[in-house]
Amino acid sequence: MSKKLSNKVAVVTGASKGIGASIAKHLAAEGASVVVNYSSSKEGADRVVAEITKDGGKAVAVQADVAKGAEIDQLFAATTKAFGKLDILVNNAGIYDFKPLEAITEDSFHKQFNLNVLGLILTSQAAAKHFGANGGNIINISSLVSTIAPANSAVYSATKAAVDAVTKSLAKELGPRKIRVNSINPGLVITEGVHAAGFAGSDFEKEFVKKAPLGRVGKPSDIAPAAVFLASDDSSWITGETLIISGGPQ
Ligand code: NAP
Repeated sequence: MSKKLSNKVAVVTGASKGIGASIAKHLAAEGASVVVNYSSSKEGADRVVAEITKDGGKAVAVQADVAKGAEIDQLFAATTKAFGKLDILVNNAGIYDFKPLEAITEDSFHKQFNLNVLGLILTSQAAAKHFGANGGNIINISSLVSTIAPANSAVYSATKAAVDAVTKSLAKELGPRKIRVNSINPGLVITEGVHAAGFAGSDFEKEFVKKAPLGRVGKPSDIAPAAVFLASDDSSWITGETLIISGGPQ
């Protein structure tokens, strides 16, 4: 059987670990050539590339801080150099800094909005220039918090609510160019970032599991197959949607 993403080229931002790494591996397993973007974890990105190539896939690691326009341009220049074109962009790179109202600072606000919203828009803008005549595919990694907005997450939840609005607006704008734009909104998924933020084993995690109909937290591999679906022709009449993957409604 032919693979779903044969001859496609994908850029996955923030793919050196966590959800992005799993998405990169799943896209590559379906035949896509993948650019594994990272910001600081060269070792993690090289490991993802090595796993993909060991399994017969194609991938390169490319460093770029996707909160910065100039580095985003370099990311797509490196993509063209490695694989000659672009078909799929997964805007996965994102940071979460949960804080109660009194602890929110201008710096934490700008860091989260600069990457999660501005960076996602600038990366989409650059990708839209590189997609060919057959269109393209943008998949934004949003979050369940864009709708449930837990306590202590005002800024982070606001960034993801903004991502959902961007998804719908760009779907309308880019549909005529055959560019589809969808988002995946995960619930709590255990990743390196979630460990670093102290959520693993926390009351926040226990509360999530208690409310989740399927009674467990997620793994990156619970999310990645949906990115393959949204990147492939199986979803060719789907655009502007937000797909919640969270073990059921909370
Ligand atoms: P993670 O484990 O912290 O991994 C984050 C990835 O993003 C890393 O590869 C990191 O690369 C990269 N990154 C960070 N800043 C970057 C920048 N400025 N430019 C380029 N890459 C950058 O995160 P995760 O938990 O997998 O989350 C991934 C996405 O899913 C985020 O958008 C997050 O908001 C969303 N999400 C996560 C959960 C969850 O429960 N985990 C739930 C809902 C939504 P370096 O290591 O090189 O810095």
